[in-house]
Amino acid sequence: MSCNIQVNKNKMEKEKAYIETWGCQLNYHRSEKIAGELDDYGYEIVENLDEADLIIFNTCAVRDKSEEKVRGRVGQIKNERKEGSLLGVGGCMAQHLGKDLFEKSGRIDFVFGTSNLGEIPELAEQARLNGQGSSVPRPEGFENLPVLRKSDYFAWVTIAEGCSNACSYCIVPQVRGPLRSRPPGEIISEVRELEEEDYQEIQLLGQNVNAFGQEVDENEVNFGWLLNKVAKTGIPRISFTTPHPKDLDEVTLTAMNENPSVVRQIHLPLQSGSNRVLKIMNREYTREEYMDKVERTRSMDPDINITTDIIVGHPGETKEDFRKTLEVIEKVQFGSVYGAQFSPRPNTRSAKMEDHVPEEEKKRRLQLVLEKQKEYSEKRDSRFIGRTTEVLVEGEAREDGAVYGKNEFGETITFPGSREMIGEFKEVKLESTDHGRLVQPAREETL
Ligand code: SF4
Repeated sequence: MSCNIQVNKNKMEKEKAYIETWGCQLNYHRSEKIAGELDDYGYEIVENLDEADLIIFNTCAVRDKSEEKVRGRVGQIKNERKEGSLLGVGGCMAQHLGKDLFEKSGRIDFVFGTSNLGEIPELAEQARLNGQGSSVPRPEGFENLPVLRKSDYFAWVTIAEGCSNACSYCIVPQVRGPLRSRPPGEIISEVRELEEEDYQEIQLLGQNVNAFGQEVDENEVNFGWLLNKVAKTGIPRISFTTPHPKDLDEVTLTAMNENPSVVRQIHLPLQSGSNRVLKIMNREYTREEYMDKVERTRSMDPDINITTDIIVGHPGETKEDFRKTLEVIEKVQFGSVYGAQFSPRPNTRSAKMEDHVPEEEKKRRLQLVLEKQKEYSEKRDSRFIGRTTEVLVEGEAREDGAVYGKNEFGETITFPGSREMIGEFKEVKLESTDHGRLVQPAREETL
C-alpha cells in the first residue's frame, strides 16, 4: 500500500512512542525494528505507556490465549492512555484478523500486518487525519529496517521469515507466509557490524531456522553452511532458534561440533511421541527418525542440551498415544520441555478435526509431562555439579546480590554478582541444583 500523505520528520518537539510485544523471539526482534523505524522517523521511544502519543501492540496469534490477552490489554489501557494518543495493533493477530480488529474493538486506530512494519509512521499519520488506517498485505520479502536494539551485548539476527511446512495445528504459515531466506551476504554484513560493535552473543532467528536456503536454487546454501560462516566471525557466542527435527542434518551437527562458539543446545520440537499423532499433525518425521537424530546429536556431544516442545490433547490423541510421548521423554531425557495443551487455531486443519480430548484430560496429561520432565531436568543438572561453566551475565536475579545468565549449554545459571557484570562472560563453578542452579564464581575473569 502507498499513502499519499506528507509527513514532517523534523517536528520541533519529538512525539513519543511506546511498544508492547507478545510472542516469540522473532516478534521481540521485530519490535526492535519497529523502534528503529520510529526512531529514524523522529519519535522518541519511551518505556511508559501513559506518556506515549503513539502506542504499538506487536501481537502473536499462535495460541488463542495470546489473542485474548491482547484484546484484554486493549480494553485495559483505556484509562492509562494519554488523550489524543493513537493505538496501532500489528503482527500475527492483525495479519490473521485484519480489519475485523476494528469491529472487535472500537479503540484501535490502525492495523498493520507482519511484513509492512516500515509503513507504521504513515499509517499513524493516516489514522490521525482520517480516524482509521489499515494495511495488511500478504507476507512476502524481507524488510530492511533500522534496528534499535534493547541490549548492547546480545543481538538477534533474522535469517529467514515464514514457513513452508504445513503442520496441521499451526497458524504461522497463514500469518507469516512461506519461507523466505535472507540473502547470506546481508546476514554476514549484519553479523560483522555486530562484531565491530563488540556484541558477545548473536542468536540466528527463523520460524523454521534450519530450513534456511531450502527455497534458494544453490546447493551449498543451507543452514549448516551459514552457521559455519557466522561461527568464523569473531562473535564469542552463537545460538539459533527454532530448528525443525526433519531439517536437522549432518552439516549442521558438524558445524556445531567444530565451532566452540556455537551453543551446545538444540531445541528439537517433538510435539508427540506417537507416529499416529505425528502423522495427523503432518510433522513429516516418525518417532524413530526423531530418536535417530537425538542419537546422532548425542554421539557428537553426550552433554548437549536437547530441549523440546510437546502438545498434549491434539485431536485424535488416545491414552496409548500419550503414553508413547511419555516414553520418548523418558528415553531422551530432555534438558527442558515446553508443554502446551492443544488449542484450535482458526482455519487450520486441526481446528476442523473432532477435538475429543476433554479439557480436564488435557490438563492431566500436561501435568504428567511436566512432572516427568522435572525429574529429568534435575537429573541432568546434578550431573554438572562441581563443573565450571561459562556464563554470559544477563541481569540481576531476584535474590539480593545475585545475577543470572546463560551458559554454553543455553541453561540459566544464578550466582553471586552485581549489575556491573551484565554483558560479561564469567566462569562459575556449579555447586547445587537448588532452585535451578545456585552456584559460586570460580574466577572473576572476563573473557
Ligand atoms: S514448522 Fe510447523 S509448527 Fe513450525 S512454524 Fe512451520 S508449520 Fe508451524
